[in-house]
Amino acid sequence: VSDPTRPPGPKIIAVTNQKGGVGKTTTTINLAAALAERGKRVLIVDIDPQGNASTGLGIAASQRKFTTYDLIVGEAELRDVIADTAVRNLGIIPATTDLSSADIELFSNEKRVFLLRDALRQPAIDAFALDYILIDCPPSLNLLTVNAMVAAHSVLVPLQSEFFALEGLSQLMLTIREVRQTANPDLRIEGVVMTMYDGRNNLSRQVELDARENLGDLVFKTVIPRNVRVSEAPSFALPVLEYDPNSKGSEAYRSMAAELDRRSHSVQA
Ligand code: ADP
Ligand code: MG
Repeated sequence: VSDPTRPPGPKIIAVTNQKGGVGKTTTTINLAAALAERGKRVLIVDIDPQGNASTGLGIAASQRKFTTYDLIVGEAELRDVIADTAVRNLGIIPATTDLSSADIELFSNEKRVFLLRDALRQPAIDAFALDYILIDCPPSLNLLTVNAMVAAHSVLVPLQSEFFALEGLSQLMLTIREVRQTANPDLRIEGVVMTMYDGRNNLSRQVELDARENLGDLVFKTVIPRNVRVSEAPSFALPVLEYDPNSKGSEAYRSMAAELDRRSHSVQA
């Protein structure tokens, strides 16, 4: 049965926060895996030159024949760059360090902020029958991140449950506003998700309260706990949902995926 509230084509979400180590890659991999487990067809686009999402899903550097870089500069087609993962329903466009020079190399390209959008929002994407595309962004508000925001329908912000977590948000919101005013007027904020949460820690609880007070319903009800299984999973080249399906981390990402699916199907302002 077709859903009249669903936009045609995949929903594209940029997973962004200019701070490093806040859980962007972990959230990208595990939210994607949880959506895939729900039967959704999901593609991860790795635009971080560090390629952590690619490594975390077992795409060895030697296997990365074509990468996001080749796609955005027009040297490869979608069908060349999309690699399968060990997870059913989950594919990835991997990244390598060649992306690190993109910022400078693409500067003189007049379409520089539209390159990823043009690569992903094209008829050829229909052949993959995707429901979601999650873009794993680098820890910076650089040209690559702006490309992700221009390509995306919405931005998802992982927020580490620690002091100063909210500090960087105003800069991020400013960038989102600029992107809306220039290249992507329909860009929405999907939400903010608290990561590495420790309920026994007063600070974690305080940061969560602050976030909910300031950001209201934008904050996902689901909170991602700090869980050692989550941090171990990438060294086994698996999402935590496959590495330890019954862990607290797996349960949390399943709950988040259900919440996202509900949000994506409700009519939004
Ligand atoms: P980013 O992509 O924002 O730089 P990562 O997703 O790579 O952040 O996470 C930073 C570090 O924190 C990684 O070592 C990761 O394994 C760890 N980590 C992330 N989320 C959790 C969690 N819920 N529980 C335990 N460790 C986590
Ligand atoms: Mg990362």
